[in-house]
Amino acid sequence: MHTSTTIQDLQNILEPIRCSNRIGLVPTMGSLHAGHVSLIEECRRLADYVVLSVFVNPIQFNSAADLQKYPRNLEQDSLIAQKAGADLVFAPGLHEIFPNGYGLSDQASSDTRILAGNRSNGLCGESRPGHFNGVVTIVGQLFNLIRPRLAVFGEKDFQQLQVIRQMVADLHYQIEIIGAPLIRDADGLALSSRNALLSEAQRSQALSIYRSMHTAQADLTRGQRDCGELKRKVIAEIGRGGLRVDYVEIVDRSNLESLERIEHSAQLIVAAFCGDVRLIDNIRLDSPRDSR
Ligand code: AMP
Repeated sequence: MHTSTTIQDLQNILEPIRCSNRIGLVPTMGSLHAGHVSLIEECRRLADYVVLSVFVNPIQFNSAADLQKYPRNLEQDSLIAQKAGADLVFAPGLHEIFPNGYGLSDQASSDTRILAGNRSNGLCGESRPGHFNGVVTIVGQLFNLIRPRLAVFGEKDFQQLQVIRQMVADLHYQIEIIGAPLIRDADGLALSSRNALLSEAQRSQALSIYRSMHTAQADLTRGQRDCGELKRKVIAEIGRGGLRVDYVEIVDRSNLESLERIEHSAQLIVAAFCGDVRLIDNIRLDSPRDSR
């Protein structure tokens, strides 16, 4: 497995293999865990040549402190990536991607940026102004540099996946976008690089997110289809766990529009602060067949 830290080196490696290989890309911010591994493995199944990018993208962060404390561990990431079946890790330095410097997500930039479409409205787009513009800009750059035929993204970041799908359709990228299931720890906590920032006590508090989502599914199964009622209970349960709710929404799975009532299926999406660590999670809600 190769590791490239420069665009020149990346091109030297990819140029000779482009025409005879189906390149797959897994974009990440590193600090790899089993969720990322599942994406690499899925990419390995679908592509001839698997590129994993590791780049903590400053322009998708809203605060310098959050950016600074984001966990980084390239040496361990390379070992994990190799074991999972990646062919190349692309881990460019900041200057390589942003030679003219950068600002945080909500700061003006004199460099070219991509603007995310309307699926970036609401949810994390509302709580984190400019975040998705930062995401689509770096993903667009990676697509242009790597020119993959397919790219794998996790449903852990449910809105991000829909925003990327919209970008690919709107900008006519000839890239297949694969959504991969959210991977959880045995106790239900969604795996996240940010979990490393939680104390043991906070980690057990954070389980209230998963519990509350299960309660919502159980209530729906019992016939509660009113999203206002379902959300109220989720918010209360997360609050009782000691977390500060950022938002709780129940949305249409494809266009992310807020729902008042669940007819068939929907996505419950949650963002909450555990101390100063912001966690996101989501679950598909299905109404019981017999009451459709
Ligand atoms: P990140 O490094 O957090 O930016 O995530 C990189 C990619 O891994 C994104 O497509 C995420 O959705 C995906 N990912 C992160 N955590 C998980 C998880 N627990 N399960 C599945 N995919 C994940």
